[in-house]
Amino acid sequence: MLDNKKEEKVRLLDDNGLRVDGRRLDELRPVKVEVGVLEKADGSAYIEHGRNKILAAVFGPREAHPKHIALADRAVVRCRYHMAPFSTDERKSPAPSRRELELSKVIRESLEPSIMSEYFPRSTIDIFIEVLQADAGTRCAGVTSASLALADAGIPLRELVAACAAGKVDGKVALDLSDIEDKKGDADLPVAFMPKSNAVSLLQMDGSMTEDELKQALDMSINACRTIYEKQKEALRTKYHVEREEAEEEEVAEVNA
Ligand code: ADP
Repeated sequence: MLDNKKEEKVRLLDDNGLRVDGRRLDELRPVKVEVGVLEKADGSAYIEHGRNKILAAVFGPREAHPKHIALADRAVVRCRYHMAPFSTDERKSPAPSRRELELSKVIRESLEPSIMSEYFPRSTIDIFIEVLQADAGTRCAGVTSASLALADAGIPLRELVAACAAGKVDGKVALDLSDIEDKKGDADLPVAFMPKSNAVSLLQMDGSMTEDELKQALDMSINACRTIYEKQKEALRTKYHVEREEAEEEEVAEVNA
């Protein structure tokens, strides 16, 4: 079978070793995260990771419905990853694709070890991830934002999960591939990481790498996950400090009234 990636070779590194978007090989795309962006969900978060724009919303823990899905010893965690029809260059079919089903499953599995679901038997925790704009690495940005939305919903977590891919372009290991690098590059390695327990909760690979390249890519993505983790904590601090200050102001206003 013809390998599409090799069909048309595109130069992904220039003479200075810089990438199509001007980044160095070990450079992360700009990442911005915000917590508590939706009113109706129990918890929510928004992420811009490069040109990816993703919303995550969490409901729960709430009573399991239908009842037969309930588990006696823990909450059932469900996850739906969905790409909006306007999120890609070519209109994506709104019907759930096999890829979206697979991503829903791997994202759920990468978050589950962090959730203290044993505190909520017979209930469900629902995670919704809506990709508004996609530019490769959406499963990772989905994990990063969904972990924040879980925290924002007040669900007890062992720790936050941060995610970032590394890969290989023009024979060189590179961090955080963009869409063209993902499509025309040699390999992509999405990683989700729990920084406190030093555990990897998602590791997939598309393409081929040597063992040394794999180790280098894994190190690179784990380092990036630590950087993203700092941004996650900052986003939580920003929201909850602001809320505390607002509450204090209200208390002062009440006392003065
Ligand atoms: P990830 O987004 O986690 O890297 P993939 O490697 O499957 O997942 O996809 C890489 C990128 O390819 C996506 O982020 C998106 O930009 C693009 N893409 C994926 N599915 C589609 C689709 N159905 N139509 C157009 N572009 C797509």
